[in-house]
Amino acid sequence: MSNEHFYEKHDEGSLKNSAEAEAGSNKATVTKPATVAVEDVQAQNLRCAQRLSLKGKVFLGGCAAALVLLLALAVTVLMPGQPAAILVDGQQVAVLKNQAQAEAVIADYLAEQSKLVGNEVFFAENVQVAEQARDDSEVLSRGNAEAVLAMTTRLKTNGAVIRVEGSQLLSVASVEIATEALDNLKKTYLPEDDTMQVLEVKFKQEVEVAPKEVFVSDLLNLDEAKLAMKDTSLTGTAPVTVLVILEKTKVEEVPYQTRFETDGTLRYGQTKTKQTGVNGSREVTIQVAQENGQEIARQEISSNTLVQAVDEIVLEGAVVRTASRSLQQATDAGMIWPTTATRISSYYGARSSDNHTGLDIDGETGDPVWAAKAGTVVTAGYYGSYGNQVVISHGDGLQTRYAHMQSIMVSVGDEVAIGQQVGTEGSTGRSTGSHLHFEVIIDGQTTDPLAYIK
Ligand SMILES: [Zn+2]
Repeated sequence: MSNEHFYEKHDEGSLKNSAEAEAGSNKATVTKPATVAVEDVQAQNLRCAQRLSLKGKVFLGGCAAALVLLLALAVTVLMPGQPAAILVDGQQVAVLKNQAQAEAVIADYLAEQSKLVGNEVFFAENVQVAEQARDDSEVLSRGNAEAVLAMTTRLKTNGAVIRVEGSQLLSVASVEIATEALDNLKKTYLPEDDTMQVLEVKFKQEVEVAPKEVFVSDLLNLDEAKLAMKDTSLTGTAPVTVLVILEKTKVEEVPYQTRFETDGTLRYGQTKTKQTGVNGSREVTIQVAQENGQEIARQEISSNTLVQAVDEIVLEGAVVRTASRSLQQATDAGMIWPTTATRISSYYGARSSDNHTGLDIDGETGDPVWAAKAGTVVTAGYYGSYGNQVVISHGDGLQTRYAHMQSIMVSVGDEVAIGQQVGTEGSTGRSTGSHLHFEVIIDGQTTDPLAYIK
């Protein structure tokens, strides 16, 4: 402690403090020599006054010098300290009673905060104690000084950061916390289903943990760090993507297929099972890729038939009762005329402008459109120039198409019987008026429908 420094600049303060010392307000230990010194000062004052009255102004300077010297001696011994200041980046922010208190405030604050953070903290700013306050600012209690310190400084700690694709995502108190947060995040996305074998768990992005000096105010705890890595509020996607590859081997049922065969002895609407279908089974191994728990790809790795499925064969009547209550007999090719109208407006084959891929049958919007033969619906919906169309697969590469319809009454996968209504005639797609565009397709190539339905 430098009391000389104190005297040089703060004579008024020193006098005030010496007065306090004499009044006994200062709790510092008062030593024997100090008491003597004060008595000496008082005695000297008396003697000076006596000399002054006797000998005049000549002696004034000498007396004053002696007085100051004696006061200096008294203060040096009596004073426990002088107001000291805490400086933050050179700026005085708090004045404490003395240097020891100022140092204690800083030490206590750092100790408390280190305990709170769970890691040793230090100031981001340059924090120092000045032995002597620059002015006579109010002397703060230690508690108040700590509050001022908290407001005027930022704390840092040797923590860690998580970087994603090279840019910093978040700060935590240690490399261990960062690593644990990442491990926990991976575990979040592992399936609960223990029949799934986990082949691989990794981050889609380049994710890195690095030790770094970080601001305490930026620190996230373990749970907060996990949430931050899943947060989709900023960009719509989580900053970190966990990619999980799973493998599963299972036995699954193979449903039997139903085949229809026309039987001349049955009437339309009558069916008879010729062979009962039996489901088969197979062992299949699949790999599933998930990103943050969402399946993004599924691949069959291997398949092994355990029980072969047996087709169901259904015999059905070839005699068809139409909507107009007329009966239609299937042709030798096993098909019926697909609608009520019979006038052909455009034949199959070469036309002046193009090659016509089907047969146009005139009619009215709303007329029924029937399946020319039993089969499975493989297409049902709006397809460009065809408009609303239905394609039925009859097996052995044979298909029929019904286009420009007003409405569709079947769905993909439906098994339809011969003569079953699949929709109504219309003029959707590239069409100039109500008609049914009917195609017969063999192995992907159209052929003249009249050979099948007439
Ligand atoms: Zn046509």
